[in-house]
Amino acid sequence: MPELPEVETVRRGLAPYLEGAKIARVTLRRKDLRFPLPASFSKRLTGARITKIGRRAKYLLFHLSNDLVLLSHLGMSGRFRIEGGKAANNPGAFYDDTPASTRHDHVLIEFDAKKRLIYNDTRRFGFMELFAKNELTKRFVNMGIEPLSNEFNGHALYALCKGKKAPIKTTLLDQGLIAGIGNIYACEALYLAKISPKKPAGKLKREETRLLSAAIKKILKKALKLGGSTLRDFHDAGGTAGRFQHEFCVYGRAGKPCLRCGSLIKCFTQAGRSTFYCPNCQR
Ligand SMILES: [Zn+2]
Repeated sequence: MPELPEVETVRRGLAPYLEGAKIARVTLRRKDLRFPLPASFSKRLTGARITKIGRRAKYLLFHLSNDLVLLSHLGMSGRFRIEGGKAANNPGAFYDDTPASTRHDHVLIEFDAKKRLIYNDTRRFGFMELFAKNELTKRFVNMGIEPLSNEFNGHALYALCKGKKAPIKTTLLDQGLIAGIGNIYACEALYLAKISPKKPAGKLKREETRLLSAAIKKILKKALKLGGSTLRDFHDAGGTAGRFQHEFCVYGRAGKPCLRCGSLIKCFTQAGRSTFYCPNCQR
């Protein structure tokens, strides 16, 4: 499933080809994805130019010249590809290498100069929304801080954790506090910062929140970088595995020795999710 680093990689893959492009025609192959597609979808998009492609948590945001914003969530299997001459590009191939059957091409956006953007989604857990630019803040009112933004640092994390009895691991996954940290990244960041996933969030000292916020950024940036590498590896390996998972220090390593101290990595369930950690060096 695409997480924050994967969605950001898709954004970076699309932006150079689509920013500035004018939408000439929109074709919907069906009326719904996970939810119904917005009313008058084609009509509202046609003629507009894509001014910028942004991202908030796992949402791609296509800013349009007519003051509308097209929001796209990739769900489990949503992928974009660009067709047409030099612009041909498949920025979603790195996280899902199954051949894209055109049977699952649901939304086609055509631009000038015969370039087109295709949204393909086998399982249809993805969705799209269309709203006015001034409704953007309202749309994300319940969403937490971006972990890769400058605003996210030790002070911000300390403030978020203050007074919270919930374990730090569960707190990191709360999208209303911090948007976009998945289970893998939470486990890996806590390992890097040597903090126990069981520790109540409110008990973290200032120095610990500083180390943890830095660890979160480091893990996410590394994943972003490896996202690119995985693309090539997927092709080389015939689609078995990317490089990313070989970089995990704790995730999926229960019963194996800790890379730092040699103690055995443990796994337990926290709020319905598997937590991996080293009981010896994460305190
Ligand atoms: Zn250890």
